[in-house]
Amino acid sequence: MKSFSSLFSRLLSATRRVVDLFCPPLCVVCGSFPEWAADGSDADSPESDHFLLCERCLRSIVEEEHLQCRRCAGSLSYSCSETIGCGNCKNEKFFFDSAVALGEYRPPLSHQILSMKHEKSGVSAETFAGVLCRERKNRLLSMGADLAIPVPMHPLRYLVRGVNSAEQIARVIAARIGVVCRTDIVHRSRWTVRQATLSGNLRRTNLLGAFKVVPRRRKEIEGKTILLVDDVMTTGSTCNEISRVLRQEGAAAVHAVVLARAEVLSGVPIPKKFGQSFK
Ligand SMILES: [Zn+2]
Ligand SMILES: [Zn+2]
Repeated sequence: MKSFSSLFSRLLSATRRVVDLFCPPLCVVCGSFPEWAADGSDADSPESDHFLLCERCLRSIVEEEHLQCRRCAGSLSYSCSETIGCGNCKNEKFFFDSAVALGEYRPPLSHQILSMKHEKSGVSAETFAGVLCRERKNRLLSMGADLAIPVPMHPLRYLVRGVNSAEQIARVIAARIGVVCRTDIVHRSRWTVRQATLSGNLRRTNLLGAFKVVPRRRKEIEGKTILLVDDVMTTGSTCNEISRVLRQEGAAAVHAVVLARAEVLSGVPIPKKFGQSFK
């Protein structure tokens, strides 16, 4: 059975290469015939970047790792300590131990994430997650995670959307670093007003008590290091509240992993036009 699926996958890959040869796909951001952002790995391998972004657009999305605060994942113009943090986060109390993002929430990444969340054409959540894993591989591995948990969506919202992009991203990350992705540990226990409509302080209070660890799952997070995965982090309130709950229930460490980190100045969220689609 395994050899059949391997054969099928090779056949699919060969067919795709032939189609690409005669009808090469265009970069979804700039529309050019791309010089592929592939790193030379086989398109079938988990490391493959056979996706719809050219090298130039990819580089405009991925932030250089040393220019990202390791505590809040915000952009830096100077290096800072992981324990103290940057100018934006040093006075914030975080319950997560560190944060990592692929890039800043601004075009073209913000546009691509909005398309991804609304299931329009463009780069899929899985592909973005694959790029995140490649670009932040050492960092993710160094976290020593035991499991990955996506930020849960309220069941009603899930029913409307049909998909939780945080879960899609978490599944890829978990598979790449060899841990399990668990969606049955944390649940959203009540409906919350959309975070994007609230100011910094209201965002924090809006989420109080919104997340719970399922009582019969408590034992499974005790002493564990957890990757908490979401698509976008703005003030960090959502990740912070879930991290607080996880730590309270016995998790040893929580690291926030997101595709994009919105620029936050003095606790003020980014302009609404960029924040309209946040959870
Ligand atoms: Zn491009
Ligand atoms: Zn910071």
